[in-house]
Amino acid sequence: MDKPLVDLRGRRGLVFGIANADSIAAGCARAFAAAGAELGVSYLNDKARPFVAAVAEPLGAAMLGPCDVRVPGQLEAVFADARARWGRIDFLLHALAFAPREDLHGRVADSSAAGFALAMDVSCHSFIRMAHLAEPMMQAGGALLTVTFYGSERVVAHYNLMGPVKAALESAVRYLAAELGPAGIRVHALSPGPIRTRAASGIDRFDELLARAAADAPEHHLVDPDDVGALAAFLASDAARRITGTIVPVDGGQHLMA
Ligand code: NAD
Repeated sequence: MDKPLVDLRGRRGLVFGIANADSIAAGCARAFAAAGAELGVSYLNDKARPFVAAVAEPLGAAMLGPCDVRVPGQLEAVFADARARWGRIDFLLHALAFAPREDLHGRVADSSAAGFALAMDVSCHSFIRMAHLAEPMMQAGGALLTVTFYGSERVVAHYNLMGPVKAALESAVRYLAAELGPAGIRVHALSPGPIRTRAASGIDRFDELLARAAADAPEHHLVDPDDVGALAAFLASDAARRITGTIVPVDGGQHLMA
């Protein structure tokens, strides 16, 4: 074989969701770049920019401007910038989520309509919008990746509102995979075990989730962003060319355990 199985040389991808070097998106960006991909990266706002640049610049990634998915036009501007630079993209990673603290910390039964809608918009519908914008730029096919959590399927203490939101995201993955499959666009969700990140710190008693993961997972190892990156690079590559519509656990086997 004259090239490695996970080879992204000549491929171009957009990475959404880097907050800092500990972000899942940062681990994925490192893996994409190590496999040879050229990357475009967005940042939430000016405050986040230097932390994102510290991850992106050593990887040679282009900073494609601010992208708060709640701000009309910003997501579109990132895609327009990518189109102007490259004409096409081959993959993207959506690794972002948000829920208002009061809703996230309460029971699903008590969640507000506004809080639920905002969490769905930022954490789920933004992926659908990215798929919509990516489709015309993926004439030669491509891969759309998002990040979910097992709390979508089973009731995980303190995951609360994000459970139904991630369930919707996973369902969107399946529908998008069916709709975009004829164009050669593959769609997946990566489902990591708990990782200590900025977003995770918003979940009540997150330390308990980490301790349980380490205890329950057959490998007794916590997952890190680079583990998720290895999976992301594989799914973005031709090595995964006949795989689509999956929710792939990268959790040391924790999902197996009752
Ligand atoms: P993180 O805090 O590093 O990243 C979350 C990102 O979401 C940040 O970059 C933030 O800027 C972005 N974001 C929030 N609101 C946004 C908005 N309105 N517009 C654009 N971006 C916005 O945390 P992370 O854990 O790396 O989270 C990435 C993804 O992984 C999320 O979808 C999260 O639900 C998922 N996930 C995390 C874990 C975990 O344990 N950390 C486990 C499974 C899944």
